[in-house]
Amino acid sequence: MRESELLEHIERRSRVLAGRGGVEVGPGDDAAVVRLTGETLLTVDQLVGGRHFDPAKTSVDEIARKAVARSVSDIAAMGGRPVAGLATGCLPRGCEFGDALFDRMFHWALHWGCPLVGGDISVSDGPLVLTVTVAGRVHESRGAVLRSGARAGDSVYVTGALGGSLVSGRHLSFEPRVEEAAWLCGLLGDRLRSMIDLSDGLGRDAARVGRASGVRVRLEAAALPLHRGVADWRAGASDGEDYELLFTVERGAMVPACCEATGTAVTRIGTVVAGTGCVIVGESGEEYGAENLGWEHSG
Ligand SMILES: [Mg+2]
Repeated sequence: MRESELLEHIERRSRVLAGRGGVEVGPGDDAAVVRLTGETLLTVDQLVGGRHFDPAKTSVDEIARKAVARSVSDIAAMGGRPVAGLATGCLPRGCEFGDALFDRMFHWALHWGCPLVGGDISVSDGPLVLTVTVAGRVHESRGAVLRSGARAGDSVYVTGALGGSLVSGRHLSFEPRVEEAAWLCGLLGDRLRSMIDLSDGLGRDAARVGRASGVRVRLEAAALPLHRGVADWRAGASDGEDYELLFTVERGAMVPACCEATGTAVTRIGTVVAGTGCVIVGESGEEYGAENLGWEHSG
C-alpha cells in the first residue's frame, strides 16, 4: 500500500468521527476542528521499534495500543480525560501492516475517548516510529494536577503494583489510570497535591516530583507494592514502564485502599520531607539515592 492510499484509508476510516465528542471536523481537511472548553492538556510521545518494543515479538495490535496508551497515561497523570488525538507513523520500507496499525491506533484512541482526528505517514529505511499526540481536558473542579505541588508533610501513594513490566509484557497491556485519576481528583480536590505517571521507574519519577516541588520524597522500601515475580524493592523501584500513578496527598486526608471506580489498589509508600529529590529507606533505616535506580529510556 502506497503512502497516498494509506492516507486515504485513514481519512475514510475516521470520517465517522465528525460529530463525536468535541470533534466537529475530523480528518480530510487541512486540519481538524475540535471543540474544547476550559484548560486543555496536550502531550506527545514517540514509540520506536527496537527501543520501546521488540519488532520480532510484538503484534500490530500491541504496538498500536502502547503508542496510544503512553500518551493517554500522561493525560491521566495531570488528572485529565483524553478528548482527541493525532498520530503519525514512519514505517520501515516494505512494511505491509501500515493500514492495520492505523486501524488499531484508531480503535484504541476511541476506546480511551480520544478519537484520532488526523494523521500522517511516511516511509524510511529506519525502524518503525509512531508519534501520538493526545489532547485532554482537566478535571472540572480540581484543574490540572502538577508535579510541582508536593509539600513537606504530604503522604505519598502509588496505584497498582510495581516492577517486571518489560519482562512480563505488561508494558504492552497496561491500562492508563484515567479513571483512578478522575476518582482521586473528585475525592480529594486540592488535597491531591501532585501527581506523575511512572514511565522511567519509581525512583527516577519520584525524584522528578521532588525536584519540581522543591521537596524530598522519602519512600519506604518495605512498603512498595510489587508484582508477583519481582525479585525485590530495587527491581520494583527501577524496572520502569509501570504506568502507575504516583501522587502526594495533604497530611491527614483519608485515601481508601482501592479505587472505588475500578478496584485498583492504592498503597501508601512514603512521606514528603524537606530537602530535594527522592530517597528510598531500607529496612534498617539506611537511605538510598533513588535517581540512579531509574531505568534509562534513552539508553
Ligand atoms: Mg509522564
